[in-house]
Amino acid sequence: MKAIVIGAGLGGLLSAARLSKAGYQVEVFERLPITGGRFTNLSYKGFQLSSGAFHILPHGPSGPLAQLLSEVGADVEIVRSDITTVRIPLKKGSLDYSKGFKDISFSDFPTLLSHKDRLKIALLIVSTRKNRPTGSSLQAWIRTQVKDEWLVRFADAFCGWALSLRSDEVPVEEIFEIIENMYRFGGPGIPIGGCKGVIDALERVIAVNGGKIHTKTEVSKILVENGKAAGVLAGDETYKANLIISNLGHVATACLCEEALSEEKDFEYLKRLETLKPSAGIKICLAADEPLVGHSGVLLTPYAKRVNGVDEVTQVDPSLAPPGKHLTMSHQYVAPENIKNLEAEIELGLQDLKAIFPGKKYEVLLIQSYHDGWPVNRAASGTDPGNETPIPELYVVGDGAKGEGGIEVEGIALGVAATMKKILG
Ligand SMILES: Cc1cc2nc3c(=O)[nH]c(=O)nc-3n(C[C@H](O)[C@H](O)[C@H](O)COP(=O)(O)OP(=O)(O)OC[C@H]3O[C@@H](n4cnc5c(N)ncnc54)[C@H](O)[C@@H]3O)c2cc1C
Repeated sequence: MKAIVIGAGLGGLLSAARLSKAGYQVEVFERLPITGGRFTNLSYKGFQLSSGAFHILPHGPSGPLAQLLSEVGADVEIVRSDITTVRIPLKKGSLDYSKGFKDISFSDFPTLLSHKDRLKIALLIVSTRKNRPTGSSLQAWIRTQVKDEWLVRFADAFCGWALSLRSDEVPVEEIFEIIENMYRFGGPGIPIGGCKGVIDALERVIAVNGGKIHTKTEVSKILVENGKAAGVLAGDETYKANLIISNLGHVATACLCEEALSEEKDFEYLKRLETLKPSAGIKICLAADEPLVGHSGVLLTPYAKRVNGVDEVTQVDPSLAPPGKHLTMSHQYVAPENIKNLEAEIELGLQDLKAIFPGKKYEVLLIQSYHDGWPVNRAASGTDPGNETPIPELYVVGDGAKGEGGIEVEGIALGVAATMKKILG
């Protein structure tokens, strides 16, 4: 049996590793000269920056990605991060960090609420595990429960960091699924070697099992014969296969086989694709001689103007920076209406970093923006149509087709695992 994978991002390589291990003859086509897509390292001034991700796996060594890596035999060491902290103003009522700040543990967020609201949150934590709220955004749901803007800020910082969305863009049921997964799999972790540590390990598995990866080879068409996916046009050549896995998201995949999709028969699917919107963000990479965050967990910053959070991966893996240096990266959500004002958004992010790290010395190494065809997420969490397409033997994996409640690469792993179950049984 032959399988073709379009795109060598994390979703594509996970699928290729799993299929080649199951005995499929696998060929991967990647248009870029490098593999890994938005999940690999970019070497710069001795630092291991990245093409996208913050070198963080949302559920660390026990999450769905770690499980899938171990299942395919990809050898990656993943170290659990310290607990996430939240930076809050020292002075009650202050709406920024200018008068000083302190850091609290993520799970202590209710301590900033009134006694009555704290009790209410405690009851909600118990009751919502059985009766999940549905049918609204997270923010709308919070506002029906507690009249305290702190909780909205906290939710915005978390959603901005984890999903690059505002809390009024995330379905409340998706957040509860994410919380459930946090209980189930635990908090974040950092792969040794960063994103590329994961990508290199997957490539080794593919090579050992006889799979091939063609870089600098763009797929321009998915061939459909007798109603089934049957091959691709890649470069100038036609390649036939029994199974096609696309790592490009549903919209780009549909464009490669649009002649085979019918407005009448596939109306529901095509309509759904129109609703998918990629999420945008800005990452600012800092170099410092002294630690800025001081621990290996995420630091959420709900009182910054734009920055949602910061991480310092060299706390776990010093090899991601030159000896004695630290690599610290901030993330900020960019609202759709602000994509055309990226420079102004970046300026606000830089101002935030000065306020978050007052008096600290650092160098801004690189500022990267992500939107449209190279976004933070191809489809907002909880909105994608899953891994199947209307064309038999054509599946979509990656961040445009994640499992429920799966944050970022953990969602990719859940989606790949579900797809493989359908294919391999
Ligand atoms: C700023 C930022 C920070 C992030 N931080 C984290 C984090 O810390 N933790 C986390 O879990 N996730 C994070 N993410 C999300 C994570 O990086 C992505 O979810 C993940 O990398 C997406 O992988 P993917 O498999 O969907 O494919 P992609 O990375 O999109 O790969 C798809 C590949 O397909 C190739 N391709 C496209 N068209 C064609 C074609 N026609 N023919 C051949 N090849 C083609 C592309 O070149 C690309 O290499 C972050 C993302 C961003 C942008």
